[in-house]
Amino acid sequence: MDKLTEIQVPDLLSFLSNNSPMLQLMIDTLPVPIFYKDIAGVYLGCNKAFEDFIKLTRDQMIGRSVYELFDKELADVYQQADQALFDEPGIQVYEKQIRSKEGDELFVKFHKTSFFDKDDKVAGLIGVIFDITEQKRLESVLTKQASFDDLTGLFNRREGLKQGEVMHKIASRGEGNFAVLMLDLDHFKQVNDKHGHLVGDRALQFVSKILTDNSRMSDVLIRYGGEEFMIIISGSSEDGAGALAEYYRASLANNPMILDDGTELRLTVSIGLSYFRHQSLGQLIHEADTALYEAKRSNRNTVCSF
Ligand code: GH3
Ligand code: MG
Ligand code: MG
Repeated sequence: MDKLTEIQVPDLLSFLSNNSPMLQLMIDTLPVPIFYKDIAGVYLGCNKAFEDFIKLTRDQMIGRSVYELFDKELADVYQQADQALFDEPGIQVYEKQIRSKEGDELFVKFHKTSFFDKDDKVAGLIGVIFDITEQKRLESVLTKQASFDDLTGLFNRREGLKQGEVMHKIASRGEGNFAVLMLDLDHFKQVNDKHGHLVGDRALQFVSKILTDNSRMSDVLIRYGGEEFMIIISGSSEDGAGALAEYYRASLANNPMILDDGTELRLTVSIGLSYFRHQSLGQLIHEADTALYEAKRSNRNTVCSF
């Protein structure tokens, strides 16, 4: 083969197979888009899946460069990636978010391999495109599920404790303004018993929204268990943390949930607070729990500090 750019029949596969359709047929049966280009970014051929993918026919593509087929911005991206492969021949794999011709966001994985002419000079590349949109979507669902509580959207206990450990470490090294609040809804069994479990679930969502709406950016809100929440506070003095806990308590007490029949459901919460004095996070949680128990004993809907 002479220099590829001088090929009279620019379709590489036709050229290589002496115009036999067999090679083309073979790659057309592959369901993944495949294309090949010369070193100047001129398309030498592709399979059927690639035609469908970029919504151009082979005839429209072959002999044209990326600059003739795409807008300059996208063509530059393709050309730069191609050039990186030509500079360092071998295999190049990268993921990219692109927009389809219909305007859909797609995640694709490019797998490109350089090829050489008879003088062992890089002559072009063969690219394969894998659509990994569904894989990315599942990944993001799983990542979300691993960190967030389905019902309330708050951090789940696992992720909350992870964040708590980071904040605790920062507090241990720095000024130590750090507090743990344990919250438990008052008489929540009665809510389920009187209104049913579904309303109970909606009440948990309602409480989470009230807490979130009244939180500061730096507060970390966690659904710790069934109807128990944990709030981790940093950057507040002990008095400040106490005031914040009282603010959370009052926010809920002053905002009844309106049920479908228009009646009000008043939800209250008891809160135990423990302030950082170089205890471990585990010890802080234990102390906040003890203070919560005290709040329950003092008629509920109240804040107690350890
Ligand atoms: P106390 O004031 O002493 O906390 O009384 P309580 O009734 O809230 O008692 P406790 O905290 O022991 O009860 C928790 C109840 O919360 C029991 C359970 O039915 C309910 N619960 C826990 N998780 C969920 C949930 O995801 N959905 C619903 N609907 N209810 C839940
Ligand atoms: Mg409880
Ligand atoms: Mg409770």
